[in-house]
Amino acid sequence: MRPAIIVHGGAATWRGGPRATSAGDARRAAALAGCEQAARAGDEVLRRGGCALDAVEAAVRSLEDDETFNAGYGAVLTREGGVEHDALIVDGALRAGAVGALVGFRHPVSVARALLERGEHVFLVGEGARRFALEAGVPEEPVASLISPGARARHESAADTVGACAVDRDGRLASATSTGGIAGKRSGRIGDSPVVGAGGFADDALCAVSATGQGEPILRLGLSRTVAELVRAGAALDDACRRALTTLAERTGGHAGVIAVAPDGRLAHATSTPQMPWASIVAGSLSSGIEP
Ligand code: ASP
Repeated sequence: MRPAIIVHGGAATWRGGPRATSAGDARRAAALAGCEQAARAGDEVLRRGGCALDAVEAAVRSLEDDETFNAGYGAVLTREGGVEHDALIVDGALRAGAVGALVGFRHPVSVARALLERGEHVFLVGEGARRFALEAGVPEEPVASLISPGARARHESAADTVGACAVDRDGRLASATSTGGIAGKRSGRIGDSPVVGAGGFADDALCAVSATGQGEPILRLGLSRTVAELVRAGAALDDACRRALTTLAERTGGHAGVIAVAPDGRLAHATSTPQMPWASIVAGSLSSGIEP
């Protein structure tokens, strides 16, 4: 088995190219660097013989720490000026943990992971999710300390969610996705990211997927699950990603990006948005990019 990891930094607002401003270019460079660092964090786990779940959690924690991205520290604000995180972690044995509208944690992916390990419930939201996180020993932080200066300034309606997919040396798959949602969302809004089959999916027999982009359309279609079903029907991984995005556009008018990994270590990334920063490591070799 060939361990492999791929991460993304969101499929929405990475402006660049010839007409880019220097601030846009700096943000683009920061996004690529952040993705590469996260891929390295996950790869380190895989190289030590760690499992795919540990690898995607480590990669997403690295992205949650990076204020460049809309997850953990630096996530976008709600209409009321708060921060509410959504996160999902799944493995190829169909285990899952998800939190929605979680307030007060820098690493929502680790709260989701604790829920997965507990095995009692799959999805907790709001105050119940917060109480569970405290019970699980995840450190709480004052909400003000999670708001970066950039997040205060950001007014885009689209955002830059993060995600990771990995396969470990035993051929086990996992996926994790983490986000602050969309800027200016209603308090209590939960997007696609923490929903199994929408923001992420993994099945050891098929693939692991993490999605980003317009949450409501992704939810309505079940984008990550659509990729997996195309693989089940015989599509190659990259073709499955592209076809799922075409279906999303045709059926809902929505735009999104996906990353995916197959049990044999093959990786794929695709987006129907102008850009999506991603990075991958297979057999020690790092690749990254931002254009579709
Ligand atoms: N899909 C996320 C949401 O709607 C946003 C994003 O991926 O940037 O919450």
